[in-house]
Amino acid sequence: MLSPEERSWREQRMTVIRKYEETERRADFINDEEIWRVLESKAHPARTEVEEVLAKTRELKGLTPEEAAVLINCRDPELLEEIFATARWIKEQVYGNRIVLFAPLYISSPCVNNCAYCGFRHTNDAVTKRTLSTEELEDEVRILTSKGHKRLIVVYGEHPVSDIDFMCHTIEKIYQTRNGRGEIRRVNVNAAPLTVEEYRQLKEVGIGTFQVFQETYHHETYRKMHPANTPKGSYRWRLFALHRAQEAGIDDVAIGALFGLYDWRFEVLGLIYHAMDLEREFGVGPHTISFPRLEPALNTPLTTGSPYLVSDDDLKKIIAILRCAVPYTGLILTCRERPELRRELIRLGVSQTDGGSRIAVGGYAEMEREHIPDREQFQLGDTRSLDAFIYELCRDGYIPSFCTAGYRSGRTGCHFMSFAKKGLVKNFCTPNAVLTFKEYLLDYASPATRELGEQVIDRYLEAFARQMPRRAEALKGMLARLEVGERDLYF
Ligand code: SF4
Repeated sequence: MLSPEERSWREQRMTVIRKYEETERRADFINDEEIWRVLESKAHPARTEVEEVLAKTRELKGLTPEEAAVLINCRDPELLEEIFATARWIKEQVYGNRIVLFAPLYISSPCVNNCAYCGFRHTNDAVTKRTLSTEELEDEVRILTSKGHKRLIVVYGEHPVSDIDFMCHTIEKIYQTRNGRGEIRRVNVNAAPLTVEEYRQLKEVGIGTFQVFQETYHHETYRKMHPANTPKGSYRWRLFALHRAQEAGIDDVAIGALFGLYDWRFEVLGLIYHAMDLEREFGVGPHTISFPRLEPALNTPLTTGSPYLVSDDDLKKIIAILRCAVPYTGLILTCRERPELRRELIRLGVSQTDGGSRIAVGGYAEMEREHIPDREQFQLGDTRSLDAFIYELCRDGYIPSFCTAGYRSGRTGCHFMSFAKKGLVKNFCTPNAVLTFKEYLLDYASPATRELGEQVIDRYLEAFARQMPRRAEALKGMLARLEVGERDLYF
């Protein structure tokens, strides 16, 4: 039950949302009938049709919803392998072999919403909700930086204890918290949709990306999952959340869908329409797309009983098709997935992922407890340490990156896209990934990871010296400066 104070705050929020709904002139760009029409029009694609779409994919110009529907409806195992191979090729072309690493940090879990699939919904008494105090927040940040993290995604419930002033205060605290050489250099935010004015306040404190998942793009399912008398009950308030963020000057925005609430094929097209609409209005699509699957949560039967749960094979398709459809948008995979599956999925086009994660509020202070079900929103599938995960990435030939230089050098939004299309990765991202990885090896890695990681860097330098000898020399010079104690060097 909500307290009178919580009810009153929720009512105020609802008043803001209703006013917005009356005045918003943008047209809803998700047309359920149209999405089903597109999917059905390509229900049985011929082999040549799939091959034509894959050939176009290699031009790196993205796909229309109709073209994506051809890949979605492809069931031929041989052609599916070609889709996966194309996705791997795009990843290599656009992102190289970098994998950007971050950690989630849950700051508050009380929430006035009541989403049917969420362990934090306010009627779920089986999960204890809590909010970090300033001291606890600093402790969590020190633990994360002591492991080597530089990038966070901070998560808040929608609640009076975590209003916009609280968010700004906690983000400032995170940036201020130092731990020897450890520091957080980029704070991304996952929170409820805000007003333009509230987004401006967040921009002032220097956030990176603002992330809002639509959860499901299907209107009827959205209505069933999110009670109408809650802020999250407004489909349009959420659908245009990132348009408002863009209006406020936050030009790195991130979309996502919670796979398992409705038919995955519909949701993939929903994500593509969302990306198209952002690009149409602001000249730049989303910075990243996430595709979490429903995971078990305490006292939340829908998470295991939904008729739309997504299989591992379909998740592979989802990732590969998104990689083909939006080649310059980052794809985020999280520790929701099991280690062996993550390995496979990363190859299909993932550019960012987390490591050593805990998702209970205050969970890093109890790192040895892999799961704390009575304080978690859902259950993680991969609870390995960051170091163990990085060792595996190195063994698989990746360069782990903690880089935050792009955002701190203004390479965001449209600037990021224009750089990305002109070779951002070769010139900036991979050398910067190597510099941040070297910092990790010097300051945080276990002996085994350090040994393997140095080999990864040596191999990269050899190849880089053949491609861009002058840049490679500059990079070697910066690596030598790191060896003697300098930090935070970037191109
Ligand atoms: S999904 Fe988000 S908004 Fe919904 S109940 Fe959970 S924390 Fe609240």
